[in-house]
Amino acid sequence: MSELRFNELRAEQIAYAIHRQERTFLPSAGRCPLCPTRPGGPETEIPFDRFEIAVFDNRFPAFEQPLGAAEVVVYTDSHEGSLATLPAEQAEALMWVWRHRYRELGAREDVHYVLIFENRGVEVGVTLHHPHGQIYGYPFLPPVPQLELAADQRLQGCAPCALLREELAVGRRVIYENEHVVAYVPYAARWAYEVHVVLREHRPSLLACEPAELELLAACLQSIVRAYDALFDRPFPYVMVVHQQPTAPTPSGLPPSGHLHIEFYPPLRTAEKLKYLAGSEQGAGTFISDTLPERSATSLREALARAAEQA
Ligand SMILES: [Zn+2]
Ligand SMILES: [Zn+2]
Ligand SMILES: [Zn+2]
Repeated sequence: MSELRFNELRAEQIAYAIHRQERTFLPSAGRCPLCPTRPGGPETEIPFDRFEIAVFDNRFPAFEQPLGAAEVVVYTDSHEGSLATLPAEQAEALMWVWRHRYRELGAREDVHYVLIFENRGVEVGVTLHHPHGQIYGYPFLPPVPQLELAADQRLQGCAPCALLREELAVGRRVIYENEHVVAYVPYAARWAYEVHVVLREHRPSLLACEPAELELLAACLQSIVRAYDALFDRPFPYVMVVHQQPTAPTPSGLPPSGHLHIEFYPPLRTAEKLKYLAGSEQGAGTFISDTLPERSATSLREALARAAEQA
Protein backbone atom coordinates (compact mmCIF):
# COMPACT_ATOMS: atom_id res chain seq x y z
CA MET A 1 0.00 0.00 0.00
CA SER A 2 1.20 3.48 -0.66
CA GLU A 3 1.24 6.08 2.06
CA LEU A 4 0.37 9.78 1.99
CA ARG A 5 2.32 12.25 4.11
CA PHE A 6 1.64 15.95 4.36
CA ASN A 7 4.72 18.09 3.79
CA GLU A 8 4.16 21.11 6.04
CA LEU A 9 6.75 23.44 4.50
CA ARG A 10 5.33 22.99 1.01
CA ALA A 11 1.73 22.45 2.11
CA GLU A 12 1.52 19.45 -0.19
CA GLN A 13 0.85 15.73 -0.09
CA ILE A 14 3.69 13.34 -0.93
CA ALA A 15 2.71 9.81 -2.00
CA TYR A 16 5.08 6.99 -1.05
CA ALA A 17 4.63 4.05 -3.41
CA ILE A 18 7.58 1.87 -2.44
CA HIS A 19 6.55 -1.16 -4.55
CA ARG A 20 7.04 0.93 -7.70
CA GLN A 21 10.78 0.20 -7.46
CA GLU A 22 10.06 -3.25 -8.91
CA ARG A 23 8.43 -1.88 -12.05
CA THR A 24 9.27 -3.41 -15.43
CA PHE A 25 12.01 -1.17 -16.83
CA LEU A 26 12.39 -0.74 -20.61
CA PRO A 27 11.81 -4.40 -21.62
CA SER A 28 12.73 -5.54 -25.15
CA ALA A 29 9.87 -5.40 -27.69
CA GLY A 30 9.35 -9.17 -27.38
CA ARG A 31 8.66 -8.84 -23.65
CA CYS A 32 6.42 -5.75 -23.75
CA PRO A 33 3.64 -6.14 -21.13
CA LEU A 34 1.36 -3.77 -23.12
CA CYS A 35 1.39 -5.84 -26.31
CA PRO A 36 -1.46 -8.31 -26.93
CA THR A 37 -0.99 -11.87 -25.67
CA ARG A 38 -0.20 -13.64 -28.94
CA PRO A 39 -0.84 -17.39 -29.42
CA GLY A 40 2.24 -19.20 -28.14
CA GLY A 41 3.79 -15.94 -26.97
CA PRO A 42 4.40 -14.69 -23.44
CA GLU A 43 1.39 -13.67 -21.35
CA THR A 44 1.10 -9.88 -21.19
CA GLU A 45 -1.13 -7.53 -19.17
CA ILE A 46 -3.76 -7.87 -21.91
CA PRO A 47 -5.16 -11.41 -22.35
CA PHE A 48 -6.35 -10.93 -25.95
CA ASP A 49 -4.55 -11.48 -29.23
CA ARG A 50 -5.75 -8.13 -30.55
CA PHE A 51 -7.51 -5.06 -29.20
CA GLU A 52 -8.30 -1.45 -30.06
CA ILE A 53 -7.76 0.44 -26.80
CA ALA A 54 -7.18 -1.24 -23.44
CA VAL A 55 -7.56 0.14 -19.90
CA PHE A 56 -6.50 -1.73 -16.77
CA ASP A 57 -5.42 -1.07 -13.20
CA ASN A 58 -1.75 -0.19 -12.88
CA ARG A 59 0.05 -3.15 -11.30
CA PHE A 60 2.38 -0.73 -9.56
CA PRO A 61 -0.12 1.90 -8.41
CA ALA A 62 0.76 5.20 -6.82
CA PHE A 63 -2.89 5.34 -5.68
CA GLU A 64 -5.40 2.54 -5.18
CA GLN A 65 -8.88 1.96 -3.78
CA PRO A 66 -10.08 3.03 -1.24
CA LEU A 67 -7.64 5.92 -1.58
CA GLY A 68 -7.69 6.76 -5.26
CA ALA A 69 -6.91 4.98 -8.50
CA ALA A 70 -4.14 4.39 -11.02
CA GLU A 71 -4.92 3.03 -14.47
CA VAL A 72 -2.99 2.39 -17.67
CA VAL A 73 -4.52 3.29 -21.05
CA VAL A 74 -2.95 1.47 -23.99
CA TYR A 75 -3.63 3.44 -27.20
CA THR A 76 -3.20 0.59 -29.69
CA ASP A 77 -2.16 -3.06 -29.91
CA SER A 78 0.72 -2.05 -32.17
CA HIS A 79 4.01 -1.77 -30.29
CA GLU A 80 5.36 0.99 -32.54
CA GLY A 81 4.02 4.48 -33.13
CA SER A 82 2.59 7.25 -31.00
CA LEU A 83 -0.49 9.36 -30.43
CA ALA A 84 0.47 11.13 -33.68
CA THR A 85 0.50 8.00 -35.84
CA LEU A 86 -2.81 6.46 -34.68
CA PRO A 87 -5.52 6.38 -37.36
CA ALA A 88 -7.77 9.44 -36.83
CA GLU A 89 -10.73 7.27 -35.72
CA GLN A 90 -8.55 5.54 -33.15
CA ALA A 91 -7.42 8.87 -31.69
CA GLU A 92 -11.07 9.95 -31.59
CA ALA A 93 -12.00 6.69 -29.83
CA LEU A 94 -9.32 7.47 -27.25
CA MET A 95 -11.18 10.71 -26.37
CA TRP A 96 -14.30 8.61 -25.65
CA VAL A 97 -12.28 6.22 -23.49
CA TRP A 98 -10.87 9.19 -21.52
CA ARG A 99 -14.38 10.54 -21.09
CA HIS A 100 -15.66 7.19 -19.87
CA ARG A 101 -12.82 6.83 -17.33
CA TYR A 102 -13.33 10.41 -16.12
CA ARG A 103 -16.99 9.63 -15.48
CA GLU A 104 -16.40 6.26 -13.78
CA LEU A 105 -13.48 7.33 -11.59
CA GLY A 106 -14.97 10.76 -10.90
CA ALA A 107 -18.15 9.13 -9.57
CA ARG A 108 -16.18 7.40 -6.82
CA GLU A 109 -16.24 8.89 -3.33
CA ASP A 110 -12.51 8.44 -2.89
CA VAL A 111 -11.55 10.18 -6.14
CA HIS A 112 -11.45 13.96 -5.87
CA TYR A 113 -9.48 14.70 -9.00
CA VAL A 114 -8.99 12.68 -12.20
CA LEU A 115 -5.74 13.34 -14.05
CA ILE A 116 -5.33 11.79 -17.48
CA PHE A 117 -1.74 12.07 -18.68
CA GLU A 118 0.97 10.71 -20.91
CA ASN A 119 4.72 10.65 -20.30
CA ARG A 120 6.56 10.20 -23.58
CA GLY A 121 10.25 9.47 -23.93
CA VAL A 122 13.01 8.26 -21.61
CA GLU A 123 13.76 11.94 -20.91
CA VAL A 124 10.60 12.10 -18.79
CA GLY A 125 11.11 8.70 -17.19
CA VAL A 126 9.13 6.42 -19.47
CA THR A 127 9.71 2.75 -18.62
CA LEU A 128 7.66 1.23 -21.50
CA HIS A 129 7.77 2.42 -25.13
CA HIS A 130 4.44 0.96 -26.26
CA PRO A 131 2.08 3.93 -26.98
CA HIS A 132 0.15 4.45 -23.76
CA GLY A 133 -0.96 6.94 -21.16
CA GLN A 134 -2.08 6.78 -17.56
CA ILE A 135 -4.87 8.00 -15.30
CA TYR A 136 -4.53 8.87 -11.64
CA GLY A 137 -7.52 9.37 -9.40
CA TYR A 138 -6.32 11.47 -6.47
CA PRO A 139 -8.00 11.14 -3.07
CA PHE A 140 -7.48 14.91 -2.59
CA LEU A 141 -7.38 18.02 -4.78
CA PRO A 142 -3.73 18.37 -5.91
CA PRO A 143 -1.90 21.75 -5.91
CA VAL A 144 -1.97 22.46 -9.67
CA PRO A 145 -5.75 22.18 -10.09
CA GLN A 146 -6.06 24.16 -6.84
CA LEU A 147 -4.01 26.95 -8.42
CA GLU A 148 -6.21 26.86 -11.51
CA LEU A 149 -9.33 27.24 -9.36
CA ALA A 150 -7.65 30.13 -7.56
CA ALA A 151 -6.96 31.73 -10.98
CA ASP A 152 -10.70 31.60 -11.72
CA GLN A 153 -11.28 33.41 -8.44
CA ARG A 154 -8.61 36.02 -9.13
CA LEU A 155 -9.87 36.70 -12.67
CA GLN A 156 -13.48 36.55 -11.47
CA GLY A 157 -14.50 34.10 -14.14
CA CYS A 158 -13.15 31.15 -16.05
CA ALA A 159 -9.37 31.63 -16.44
CA PRO A 160 -8.91 29.36 -19.49
CA CYS A 161 -11.79 31.25 -21.24
CA ALA A 162 -10.09 34.59 -20.48
CA LEU A 163 -6.63 33.39 -21.53
CA LEU A 164 -7.98 31.90 -24.75
CA ARG A 165 -9.68 35.20 -25.66
CA GLU A 166 -6.39 37.00 -25.08
CA GLU A 167 -4.36 34.51 -27.15
CA LEU A 168 -6.85 34.73 -30.03
CA ALA A 169 -6.77 38.54 -29.90
CA VAL A 170 -2.94 38.63 -29.97
CA GLY A 171 -2.64 35.72 -32.40
CA ARG A 172 1.17 35.49 -32.43
CA ARG A 173 1.39 32.47 -30.17
CA VAL A 174 -1.46 30.48 -31.74
CA ILE A 175 -0.06 27.49 -33.61
CA TYR A 176 -3.18 25.56 -34.61
CA GLU A 177 -6.92 26.10 -34.63
CA ASN A 178 -10.01 24.35 -35.90
CA GLU A 179 -13.72 24.93 -35.44
CA HIS A 180 -13.75 23.76 -31.81
CA VAL A 181 -10.18 23.75 -30.49
CA VAL A 182 -7.23 26.17 -30.32
CA ALA A 183 -3.57 25.37 -29.53
CA TYR A 184 -1.06 28.01 -28.48
CA VAL A 185 2.21 28.54 -26.67
CA PRO A 186 1.02 30.38 -23.56
CA TYR A 187 2.11 33.97 -22.90
CA ALA A 188 4.05 32.90 -19.81
CA ALA A 189 5.12 29.36 -20.78
CA ARG A 190 7.42 27.59 -18.33
CA TRP A 191 8.89 25.23 -20.95
CA ALA A 192 10.48 26.31 -24.26
CA TYR A 193 7.88 24.44 -26.34
CA GLU A 194 4.97 24.29 -23.92
CA VAL A 195 1.61 24.12 -25.71
CA HIS A 196 -1.92 24.44 -24.34
CA VAL A 197 -4.89 23.01 -26.22
CA VAL A 198 -8.18 24.64 -25.23
CA LEU A 199 -11.82 24.04 -26.16
CA ARG A 200 -13.34 27.23 -27.62
CA GLU A 201 -16.58 26.72 -25.71
CA HIS A 202 -16.59 26.63 -21.93
CA ARG A 203 -16.60 22.87 -21.27
CA PRO A 204 -15.80 21.86 -17.68
CA SER A 205 -14.87 18.34 -18.72
CA LEU A 206 -14.92 15.78 -21.52
CA LEU A 207 -18.45 14.87 -20.35
CA ALA A 208 -19.73 18.28 -21.48
CA CYS A 209 -18.29 17.96 -24.99
CA GLU A 210 -20.27 17.37 -28.18
CA PRO A 211 -19.09 14.44 -30.34
CA ALA A 212 -17.74 16.90 -32.95
CA GLU A 213 -15.65 18.60 -30.26
CA LEU A 214 -14.09 15.28 -29.23
CA GLU A 215 -13.33 14.51 -32.87
CA LEU A 216 -11.58 17.85 -33.41
CA LEU A 217 -9.82 17.67 -30.05
CA ALA A 218 -8.24 14.38 -31.16
CA ALA A 219 -7.27 15.93 -34.50
CA CYS A 220 -5.64 18.86 -32.73
CA LEU A 221 -3.67 16.66 -30.32
CA GLN A 222 -2.39 14.54 -33.20
CA SER A 223 -1.34 17.69 -35.10
CA ILE A 224 0.57 19.02 -32.10
CA VAL A 225 2.50 15.77 -31.60
CA ARG A 226 3.28 15.68 -35.35
CA ALA A 227 4.58 19.24 -35.14
CA TYR A 228 6.70 18.29 -32.14
CA ASP A 229 8.20 15.29 -33.97
CA ALA A 230 8.94 17.47 -37.02
CA LEU A 231 10.49 20.26 -34.94
CA PHE A 232 13.88 18.57 -34.40
CA ASP A 233 13.16 15.64 -36.70
CA ARG A 234 13.13 13.15 -33.83
CA PRO A 235 10.52 11.63 -31.49
CA PHE A 236 9.84 14.54 -29.17
CA PRO A 237 9.59 13.80 -25.44
CA TYR A 238 6.82 15.44 -23.46
CA VAL A 239 4.50 15.24 -20.51
CA MET A 240 0.88 15.74 -21.58
CA VAL A 241 -1.83 16.36 -18.97
CA VAL A 242 -5.60 16.78 -19.24
CA HIS A 243 -7.02 19.35 -16.83
CA GLN A 244 -10.74 19.16 -16.08
CA GLN A 245 -13.22 20.03 -13.38
CA PRO A 246 -12.48 18.42 -10.00
CA THR A 247 -14.83 15.55 -9.17
CA ALA A 248 -15.30 16.34 -5.48
CA PRO A 249 -16.26 19.42 -3.49
CA THR A 250 -13.55 22.07 -3.74
CA PRO A 251 -11.94 23.71 -0.67
CA SER A 252 -14.02 26.22 1.23
CA GLY A 253 -14.76 29.43 -0.61
CA LEU A 254 -14.01 28.09 -4.07
CA PRO A 255 -16.95 27.22 -6.31
CA PRO A 256 -16.47 24.14 -8.50
CA SER A 257 -15.08 25.26 -11.82
CA GLY A 258 -12.68 24.09 -14.47
CA HIS A 259 -12.40 24.24 -18.24
CA LEU A 260 -11.15 21.24 -20.19
CA HIS A 261 -7.69 21.89 -21.60
CA ILE A 262 -4.59 19.89 -22.31
CA GLU A 263 -1.09 21.04 -21.44
CA PHE A 264 2.12 19.73 -23.02
CA TYR A 265 5.39 20.18 -21.10
CA PRO A 266 8.33 19.17 -23.30
CA PRO A 267 11.74 19.06 -21.56
CA LEU A 268 13.79 19.83 -24.71
CA ARG A 269 15.00 23.37 -25.34
CA THR A 270 17.08 22.43 -28.41
CA ALA A 271 17.42 19.19 -30.40
CA GLU A 272 19.96 17.91 -27.87
CA LYS A 273 19.63 20.05 -24.75
CA LEU A 274 17.25 19.29 -21.93
CA LYS A 275 15.84 21.85 -19.56
CA TYR A 276 16.67 20.77 -16.02
CA LEU A 277 14.73 21.92 -13.02
CA ALA A 278 17.50 23.31 -10.87
CA GLY A 279 18.18 25.92 -8.18
CA SER A 280 15.69 28.61 -9.15
CA GLU A 281 12.94 26.25 -10.29
CA GLN A 282 13.25 23.85 -7.34
CA GLY A 283 14.33 26.19 -4.60
CA ALA A 284 12.32 29.28 -5.45
CA GLY A 285 9.63 27.97 -7.76
CA THR A 286 10.63 30.44 -10.48
CA PHE A 287 11.24 29.15 -13.99
CA ILE A 288 14.08 30.68 -16.01
CA SER A 289 13.59 30.20 -19.75
CA ASP A 290 15.96 31.08 -22.59
CA THR A 291 13.30 30.98 -25.32
CA LEU A 292 10.51 33.50 -25.85
CA PRO A 293 7.08 31.92 -26.38
CA GLU A 294 6.53 33.98 -29.57
CA ARG A 295 9.66 32.47 -31.14
CA SER A 296 8.69 28.95 -30.14
CA ALA A 297 5.25 29.48 -31.65
CA THR A 298 6.81 30.49 -34.99
CA SER A 299 9.06 27.39 -34.96
CA LEU A 300 6.12 25.14 -34.10
CA ARG A 301 3.94 26.62 -36.85
CA GLU A 302 6.75 25.94 -39.35
CA ALA A 303 7.17 22.40 -37.99
CA LEU A 304 3.42 21.84 -38.32
CA ALA A 305 3.58 22.92 -41.98
CA ARG A 306 6.52 20.54 -42.60
CA ALA A 307 4.63 17.69 -40.92
CA ALA A 308 1.55 18.40 -43.07
CA GLU A 309 3.71 18.29 -46.25
CA GLN A 310 5.20 14.94 -45.25
CA ALA A 311 1.78 13.44 -44.55
ZN1 LIG B 1 4.25 -3.41 -26.88
ZN1 LIG C 1 -14.07 28.45 -19.60
ZN1 LIG D 1 -4.15 23.57 -16.74
